[in-house]
Amino acid sequence: MLIYNTKNHRKEEFVPIEPGKVRMYVCGPTVYDQIHIGNGRTFLAFDVIRRYLTYKGYEVTFAQNLTDVDDKIINRANEQGRTAAEVADEFSKAFIEQMHRLGVLDPDIRPRATREIDAMQEMIQILIDKGHAYVVDSGDVYFAVRSDDRYGVLSGRDVDQLRVGARVEENTDKRDPLDFALWKAAKPGEPSWPSPWGDGRPGWHTECCAMIHHYLGTPIDIHGGGQDLVFPHHENETAQAWCAWDDELARTWMHTGMLRVEGEKMSKSLGNFYTLKEVLDKYPAGAVRILMLQTHYRSPLDFSFERLDGAVGTLERLQTCVKNLRWAAHNSAQDGELNDADRALGAAIDTAVADFTTQMDDDFNTAGGLAAIFALVTAANTYLDQAGADTSTALALRASDAIVELADVLGIQLDRESASDLPAELVDLARAQAGYEGDSAEEAAEVLLQARQEARAAKNWALADAIRDGIAALGLIVEDTAAGARLRAKKD
Ligand code: AMP
Ligand code: ZN
Repeated sequence: MLIYNTKNHRKEEFVPIEPGKVRMYVCGPTVYDQIHIGNGRTFLAFDVIRRYLTYKGYEVTFAQNLTDVDDKIINRANEQGRTAAEVADEFSKAFIEQMHRLGVLDPDIRPRATREIDAMQEMIQILIDKGHAYVVDSGDVYFAVRSDDRYGVLSGRDVDQLRVGARVEENTDKRDPLDFALWKAAKPGEPSWPSPWGDGRPGWHTECCAMIHHYLGTPIDIHGGGQDLVFPHHENETAQAWCAWDDELARTWMHTGMLRVEGEKMSKSLGNFYTLKEVLDKYPAGAVRILMLQTHYRSPLDFSFERLDGAVGTLERLQTCVKNLRWAAHNSAQDGELNDADRALGAAIDTAVADFTTQMDDDFNTAGGLAAIFALVTAANTYLDQAGADTSTALALRASDAIVELADVLGIQLDRESASDLPAELVDLARAQAGYEGDSAEEAAEVLLQARQEARAAKNWALADAIRDGIAALGLIVEDTAAGARLRAKKD
């Protein structure tokens, strides 16, 4: 399996540090506002990477932080007359909610900067003791970039060149403009914690590095984020790790391309953004995922609502195919010998699964993975057109399961049991027999099964039979299983 490693500028065979296990970390958001869909793209890309590694059989431990103390949060709090903690709490919850709506799996570990101050102070102290950091009169602590000969290796930057371009800040006692803050002395009205260097708060680059070391152990296998984090954030993170613990922070560094609108990076500061929330209020998560996964994660992604509308159609095509396959399977009488058409569909399923893996093994080529799924959809649609009443139940179910499972690796959730499996007449039956008042066939089915159960318990055999017969008249049978009764289509 090949993964592009930013550090070495090439795709490399992925070999985890501990066989069968992957420890990965992706820098999380600064929680001062709703995230935009550019941020969403990065988090979604790593969700798929994690899902695929799990699909390949790796035991993945995934950590992602919440940056809940930062200038942006403090500024927002001051504007709104609230505390920084209140702002951070509101937008931490908002972030997690939108991630759930997008179908992004929760990290195994979600550390929050404000709760990990000890780990950060411990790392800063090691850096000071080893001569890589220094305390100035104000109480700030800085990392001495020049003390690390490897500085610049990750992002391919030369320290002397950087020096020429560096902005010389006013009111700082940094020894070198390239040095960055590990600890910022407290200012009035800002949250702060006690430390050996005086009250203050951690710097952003310090946070991820210390939390990775604390929760996952360094080095980790994969560290990710958007391309805009390569420098200075990740360069600074790995510099701290080398200097504190004599090894790099991560073996493989992965970075996502920027989501753009009309050729420009989507960002809060440019004002050209759509929040993930507003997009998910209008579009299904599956469509957002399809749009984003049609482009390779390292390439820039050009967002437009026209493309998103197109993705809605693509999602429907997937869902309709699954629905038709299941419907055909329910209604088919054919369960015996396979014919040529069945065998062709069987081969298409195997090819799709193999192609999907080949594409995804090549640095998570999700566009290729989607194409493999759609090749199967095309084959399945052709099969359904040709097979008619002769559909093989087993093959139709295998094809629909394969589509659902491969889509799931990309985090695209399809309904396995689709609504149209159940006839709408169930609603009338439930109204007549069980006093149901809604109009969903699924609910009606549950209400009817429940009513039949209760009638039987009460030895009201007439009612129980009437319900069963009414269901049978709709071409369904009641099947009593260990997990309770359920409906299925009659095969003959
Ligand atoms: P931030 O909260 O600004 O640190 O951003 C959270 C994550 O979103 C980081 O990994 C950024 O690299 C990423 N990101 C920010 N803007 C974009 C964009 N336009 N497209 C893709 N990823 C982005
Ligand atoms: Zn980070």
